[in-house]
Amino acid sequence: MANTAIVGINWGDEGKGRMVDLLTRGHDIVVRYQGGGNAGHTIINEYGKFALHLLPSGIFTKGVMNVLGNGVALDCENLWKEIEDVRTRGVEISPENLAVSDRASLLLPWHRELDGLEEARLADKKYGSTRQGIAPFYSDKYSKKTVLAGELNYPEHLRAHLLDLLEWKNLTLKNVYGAEGYTMAQLEDWVADYGEKIRPFVRDTGEYLKKSVAEGKSILFEAQLGALRDLDYGIVPYTTSSNTIAAFAPVGSGLPGVKIDSVIGVVKAYSSCVGEGPFTCEWFGEQAEKLREAGAEYGAKTGRPRRVGPIDIVATRYGVETQGATNIALTKLDVLSYMDEIPICEKYELFGEVTDRFPFPAVLSDAKPIIKTMPGWKCDISSCRKWEELPKEARDYVEYVEREIGCRIGYVSVGPERESIIIR
Ligand code: GDP
Repeated sequence: MANTAIVGINWGDEGKGRMVDLLTRGHDIVVRYQGGGNAGHTIINEYGKFALHLLPSGIFTKGVMNVLGNGVALDCENLWKEIEDVRTRGVEISPENLAVSDRASLLLPWHRELDGLEEARLADKKYGSTRQGIAPFYSDKYSKKTVLAGELNYPEHLRAHLLDLLEWKNLTLKNVYGAEGYTMAQLEDWVADYGEKIRPFVRDTGEYLKKSVAEGKSILFEAQLGALRDLDYGIVPYTTSSNTIAAFAPVGSGLPGVKIDSVIGVVKAYSSCVGEGPFTCEWFGEQAEKLREAGAEYGAKTGRPRRVGPIDIVATRYGVETQGATNIALTKLDVLSYMDEIPICEKYELFGEVTDRFPFPAVLSDAKPIIKTMPGWKCDISSCRKWEELPKEARDYVEYVEREIGCRIGYVSVGPERESIIIR
């Protein structure tokens, strides 16, 4: 199989993890290229149910190499906890099937603390951060004030580098936020503990990937979150602090020149969103509660109830274009089975005009959804495995969405299990 990226088209939580889990078999290597421990990919397979935050979703498949690329926020603490948790459930994890880029920057203890301090300072204007330190981490990375994982192999150099960073970071912690700050002893303990645990996995993954491509191996690029959370193209400032789009996959993986043959965009059959920011199609009250219950919409990382609403064609089309998707996986179609009529947001009304284009972030909260409905199917579709087995109303819905978003829907998923999928 050729090189594939699996990316989110919407606000995240579309079901990317289950698609990576499904499609890993056709690939030799799975690479995570951005983000950190701030979101979760839920996977249900023969080992049980997992919420992976940092580990690539190919970790369950024997013979597949999993790589955390240079674009990732390398949270050694969370990564180690995750490795231990997954290991205790019967999955082997070693440098044979997990490699961490020596060019990935380390998320340090102060990043998590700063995230919490800044959200507290913002109070009711907060961004809805998961407080995993992602925004302070990427700010520091772009300021060239992070430590590369490969530095763990050079203790003298690392110590000097950390001393410099410590002096600088304590200025902010103490003088801006009135926090206690850190000592060198605390940092050294952290390096001796979590740094040492992750060090055996650290290598020149760029070189490894280049060699693998030359040998004809195929790569699956795994994204976190969705197009609308992309730092450049998303709903600024309610985005994440990295680029979630497929175009960033080569850069964040360590293969800047690689060609991605297929971009599979994952779209949920309705909308959901965690955290703050404008969410045009949002439902409230009983209507929302019913959909949230039906779709089990609670955050994989935080357990927070997700905001929900009908599918948003305007935002989804924008996501498809932004991702350059070549194929779509429509997930959670089974969740809509309880509805008499399926609601669809087909356009927005913005300043008195009807539009089908996704608005500029600053005026997004002024947009109002224009809703149409299609007939529901009102029966359990979770055992359907062929396109023809779906009721006509469900097929009509999928075909309508396909037409409107301008991209073929090649996969329709009707349940969380690996096999609950229709391949068209
Ligand atoms: P990701 O971050 O994009 O991988 O998505 P999450 O894991 O946060 O959320 C997707 C949720 O939907 C998980 O709980 C999955 O088990 C579940 N899921 C995925 N596909 C389906 C589906 O087709 N039907 C149902 N009912 N649940 C699904």
